Amino acid sequence: MSPDVGAAPGAGSQPGAATGAGMPFRRVALIGLGLIAGSLAHAMRAQGFTGQIVGHARSAETRDTAARIGLVDSVYDSAAAAVAGADLVVLAVPVGAMGAVAAEIGPHLEPGAILTDVGSVKQAVIDAVGPHVPAGVHFIPGHPLAGTEQSGPESGFATLFRNRWWLLTPLPGTDPAAQDRLVALIGAVGAHVDVMDPAHHDLVLAVTSHAPHLIAYTMVGVADHLRRVTEGEVIKYSAAGFRDFTRIAASDPTMWRDVFLHNREATLDILGRFTEELFVLQRAIRMGDGQHLHDYFSRTRAIRRGIIDAGQDTDAPDFGRVPVGGAARDKG
Ligand code: NAP
Repeated sequence: MSPDVGAAPGAGSQPGAATGAGMPFRRVALIGLGLIAGSLAHAMRAQGFTGQIVGHARSAETRDTAARIGLVDSVYDSAAAAVAGADLVVLAVPVGAMGAVAAEIGPHLEPGAILTDVGSVKQAVIDAVGPHVPAGVHFIPGHPLAGTEQSGPESGFATLFRNRWWLLTPLPGTDPAAQDRLVALIGAVGAHVDVMDPAHHDLVLAVTSHAPHLIAYTMVGVADHLRRVTEGEVIKYSAAGFRDFTRIAASDPTMWRDVFLHNREATLDILGRFTEELFVLQRAIRMGDGQHLHDYFSRTRAIRRGIIDAGQDTDAPDFGRVPVGGAARDKG
């Protein structure tokens, strides 16, 4: 899956100590064993976590793979069994599956446990999960702004969260001590925490991640139609712009279907603005207004500069791509 690229680390809380002691949990249950959960397990181990990491995934195939590669210490057939005795439970399933999973595990959560999620949309997850959280369990929704276009139990890696933002959208009245423990774990795996209102999160992510994904899906769809006219040249001569779109458009269909269905309003708002801007640029091209185009592209270039200056991407030409046959760049 493609990265949910974050803004620059700044005034949020500092990363915790990168040691086992920086992760104040005994037993962590990961529900969903894909890219994000797998990366979390790898990162915790790499930072010396000495407690237990257990997990559950929907399919026997994923559970078997997770067990075979030792992703977690124990794999359970049911989510309810996995969360028993856990002092931290992480929901790492597609956004549309969060509510059903929460309903299943709710009665089995330990009093005092922290329940968090990593879903790319926050208000819909809060609405779906919240009603199933028993009194005495601390529900602290979250979203790591880190990812790749890969998915599944073998796609995770320990450095995924390094120097990335991890947004928390705590509910009013959240226990500060519980939040501090979660923040310590997130810091220990290398991410920076910021706290945000869920609706604001959903709007910001619609701009920085959700709408760009839809645009990439659309552009690749256009090229797919055109391919029939150009007899394969779209693939053969794919230039950097199109290749970057195809990487994003290779993201997991289930995850992204759920993102759009559950962040509908904000995404439609941003797409409306996008369409207006597109018409303005279209008109500038038609009218031969080079000044407008140049000014516009100068402003967008400055935004790219800001992302690089903030350490959220590399300024290597062509995104640091190496020639075919060379070593792949570290996506973390
Ligand atoms: P992934 O690699 O596709 O893994 C998803 C996992 O969820 C799989 O283990 C899958 O099991 C399991 N699952 C799916 N439906 C389920 C259900 N109904 N009940 C139980 N388990 C179920 O996905 P991911 O990239 O880790 O994404 C997980 C969450 O993180 C999503 O909410 C996503 O929005 C969020 N997120 C993703 C990114 C990203 O860039 N990828 C970044 C930040 C946040 P099976 O394999 O058995 O189907």
